Amino acid sequence: MRIITGLGRILIVLLFACLSRECSAADGPRQRSILVLEEADFRSPFYSEIFDGIRAAAKQNGHAHTVIYGESLDLARFPGPDYEDSLVGHLKTKFADRSIDVIISIGVAAAKFLQKHKQDIWPAAPVVYAFVPDLPEVRALFLPDTTAIFARVRPTHLLTAARAIVPDLTRVVLVGGAWRNPLVYGHWKQDFAAAMPGLEVTDLSDATLREVRNQVATLPAGSAILTSAMYSDGEGTYYSPASALARVAESANRPVIITSDTFLGRSGVGGFLLLPDVIGREAGGVATRILAGEAPSSIAAFDGDNVKPIFDWRQLKRWNVDEANLPPGSEVRFRELGFWEQYYWHTMLVAAVVLTQALMIAILLRERRLRFLAEVEARQRMSELAHMNRRATAGEMSASIAHELSQPLAAILLNAETAGHVLQSPAPDLGEVRDMLEHIRRDDQRASEVIGRLRSFLKRDPTERRDIDLNATVDEVFRFLSVQALTYDVGLSTEPSPATIRVKADRVQLQQVILNLVVNGMDAVAHLPADRRRVVGRTSLTEGNLALVSIADLGDGILAGKVTEIFKPFFTTKTQGMGIGLSIARTIVEAHGGRIWAENAPSGGAVFHISLPLVVTRQA
Ligand code: ADP
Repeated sequence: MRIITGLGRILIVLLFACLSRECSAADGPRQRSILVLEEADFRSPFYSEIFDGIRAAAKQNGHAHTVIYGESLDLARFPGPDYEDSLVGHLKTKFADRSIDVIISIGVAAAKFLQKHKQDIWPAAPVVYAFVPDLPEVRALFLPDTTAIFARVRPTHLLTAARAIVPDLTRVVLVGGAWRNPLVYGHWKQDFAAAMPGLEVTDLSDATLREVRNQVATLPAGSAILTSAMYSDGEGTYYSPASALARVAESANRPVIITSDTFLGRSGVGGFLLLPDVIGREAGGVATRILAGEAPSSIAAFDGDNVKPIFDWRQLKRWNVDEANLPPGSEVRFRELGFWEQYYWHTMLVAAVVLTQALMIAILLRERRLRFLAEVEARQRMSELAHMNRRATAGEMSASIAHELSQPLAAILLNAETAGHVLQSPAPDLGEVRDMLEHIRRDDQRASEVIGRLRSFLKRDPTERRDIDLNATVDEVFRFLSVQALTYDVGLSTEPSPATIRVKADRVQLQQVILNLVVNGMDAVAHLPADRRRVVGRTSLTEGNLALVSIADLGDGILAGKVTEIFKPFFTTKTQGMGIGLSIARTIVEAHGGRIWAENAPSGGAVFHISLPLVVTRQA
């Protein structure tokens, strides 16, 4: 070390200093700092929102390394040179080793303070003035190398708001110390006189809070109370402006016009309101531009967009104010929604559900009606088909009917001729003639019975349900078909139940069902050898207390797997078949509350069963 000269030592120190600076540069950009100088206490909502706005703007503009200091001067509540001197001393000590890159001065009082003391405390820092009115007296406070964003509720703004709330305005009452400050409200007297000549003005700006409360309690109609911030009253009592105003509003019998949105909802009806958050964001925005390198003098002072007409809906209701009278662009807050607005979606949902339900019910009812009509139509068609089916059967049977009629007619002719011969004899046997006449009468009766049966079978009567004897009904059908059976050489026989079985049914319809089954049975056996050409009709009672008719034949049976299908309309295996006999039979049986089904008998041949509800059964 001894070989290092004094000059060398200096060089080493310089090199070290240089290196260490480079190191810190390599760590990142130097930390920037903003000092927010609030004229009042930044714990009050208004100033605290300004501070938050500044912070938000600085963050948004990407100055992550910006530190924001805040100082509350609280000059409105602590006036006087002694406090100011001690404040200067305090700030000098506090910021001795902190470099401040930009000062944001909030309020006229802070601007005044800087005018007097900035050189002493922060001589190099550029200044952004915010929350100051654009008045010549205020501009006169600005130091060189500064810029400003103006924020101002003009006295005429208050008057406009008051006239919107009280259309017949004749008098205004001024409350709050700021009315006395020409740097805040300027020359309001001239402004009011110009805007509304003859307006009565009661100035309570230096009255005590107690006096103010007393006075505003008994104001005549046509009055409005125009407020400004109130920090202290004539008695030397200090307040936070928000709570002081709330107390004034408590006793006021007329609308209270306010100037900050931090008062809205607590006291006033509204007015042209300062938006502290916007004031902060605007100031923060300009400050970050300066931090980014712009010279403050190159940024012209401008009017901020930080005042807006805003009103409290509840107060508008209280003072019976028509919203149409509010200044253009007004915002109405705290609106209580009416039932319809509040439950709009609920109501719509319920209405939608009810409507859907009603629609569904209507659709279902329509469906039901359509189905009913379709059923009626189907029944009509079926009845027509049944009629056709009967006529077809009757047509088929016409030969046997003719045969059945020809027998009694031939007998009548024979008896009549014989009786004629007998009467021509000299001593006619009148007893014999009487017998012959009796035979003629019986044969005639038989013939007319055949015709009567045919006619009743062909009739298309509406359904007529009666208490009928099932054995007799089956027997009638078998007798009806006996001649046709003779033609085909098919043996027809019945095995009636020993018990009388009574069912409630339409006799003709039931006969048609049985007739179709017997004719089918005859069709099935007609081509077979004589020992198999047999169709049997049985009646019985089931265990479930139902009447059962079974028509069995000894034919080849029903095609495999078709025992259900044969009941479908138009299913036929016959070349001349129509395939409607069984479907008609099923419709008729089901309409009677019964069931029809078919099976192949184990011993061969098909068996068709009809079960019907019983009416009365009596043991024979
Ligand atoms: P169709 O007699 O005009 O064919 P049906 O509806 O009366 O119409 O009968 C439908 C089908 O059922 C017949 O074509 C036949 O295949 C079958 N069938 C009906 N009765 C019998 C039976 N006794 N034996 C065998 N098959 C039968």
